[in-house]
Amino acid sequence: MIHSLEVDANRIQSDLDELSKISDSDFPCVTRILWTEKDMLARAWLKGKMEEAGLVVREDEIGNIFGRLQADGPNCPAIATGSHNDAIPFSGMYDGTVGVLGGLEALRSIRKFLQKTGKSLAKSIDLIMFTAEEPTRFGIGCLGSRLMAGTLSPEQAHDLRDANGELLESIRSKAQYRGDLANVRLENNCYDAFVELHIEQGPLLEQLGLQIGIVTAIAAPSSLRVKYEGPGGHAGAVLMKDRRDPILPAAKLILEVHDAAHELGGEDTVATTGVVKVHPGAINSIPREVIVEMDIRDIDLERRTRVLQRVEAKAHALGRDASIPTTLEWINADPPATCDSKIVDTIQSVCDTYQFTSQKMISRAYHDSLFMAQICPTAMIFIPCRDGISHRPEEYASTEAIEVGVKTLASTLLELAEIV
Ligand SMILES: [Zn+2]
Repeated sequence: MIHSLEVDANRIQSDLDELSKISDSDFPCVTRILWTEKDMLARAWLKGKMEEAGLVVREDEIGNIFGRLQADGPNCPAIATGSHNDAIPFSGMYDGTVGVLGGLEALRSIRKFLQKTGKSLAKSIDLIMFTAEEPTRFGIGCLGSRLMAGTLSPEQAHDLRDANGELLESIRSKAQYRGDLANVRLENNCYDAFVELHIEQGPLLEQLGLQIGIVTAIAAPSSLRVKYEGPGGHAGAVLMKDRRDPILPAAKLILEVHDAAHELGGEDTVATTGVVKVHPGAINSIPREVIVEMDIRDIDLERRTRVLQRVEAKAHALGRDASIPTTLEWINADPPATCDSKIVDTIQSVCDTYQFTSQKMISRAYHDSLFMAQICPTAMIFIPCRDGISHRPEEYASTEAIEVGVKTLASTLLELAEIV
């Protein structure tokens, strides 16, 4: 049975406002980067809020923070919710934080419900603040959830460096996080369910006038770097018949990426060439080196693989045909995730109970949920944000929209945790 829960919208808003001030840039810009002084202050602030709400707080070796609303027995299974508090430079105050502070309010409301009804939980509920969802400091997104899921090994994490060349290990220990990173890894199915509340970061819900997006799949990016090299030369002196110009295969490859997504992909297949670097980059010089970087995303791994294989084969063929040395490097290739149908159905029933307008949709951006989905049944709840804007100070979600999201999350969690 779905229970309607009361949440305190003003308290969520004031929590969000308070956190937005713990920032390295002036309001309304928010900048919170992993293990900076402001990030450490925000962490201490959050742990305080969790304790105030009666949660049992722990932190792992990479700084993922867990606040547990304990079930009755000591060895009960658990479910979880959560998101991230870090913010890229000069961004907004809702990305991630709505899922963390909204999750906190959801647990407060569940606790109040239990106290009022004298019931208790069959499964504990963890609120997780994931470390560094944004790739700002170490160039890799979802550091905390990747280590939890084992997608990133402790050895790979040890070797990460920030822009100043300092190793993660050294920065981590300065932030007082020590111990073996292998301990961050969670067992498969350690949680019976994981649900993340997040702003949509796209315009769909607002355009359709809907209150809730129920995420059924999360698209995952794969990115590829291709380098073509040639002898270069003077733009006037080297005749066309004597040239081996690396910009030509690069240009043809850009068209190929677009065509491959069109011809082999579906509606949810997207391919972008966002980086083209030409060296030496002078108008009177034949390029000596051209690097193109491409991002190809889909919710269907097989379909994405077909597009990637065609691009990869063509990248080599274009270089070979022009006698131009070609180097190909995978930057990443995370698998997309399908959300758990039982959790999706629960969210749908909750929306129907509250009479919130909703629609199933896919997440085109990726989140910590993408990695949680590798180790436990996962789904996401989206709320609309103004003009679909995110990662900018103009990012905005109304208090009413957040309240609807938190009620949906709270009732979903209560249903999944089962009361006894
Ligand atoms: Zn986010």
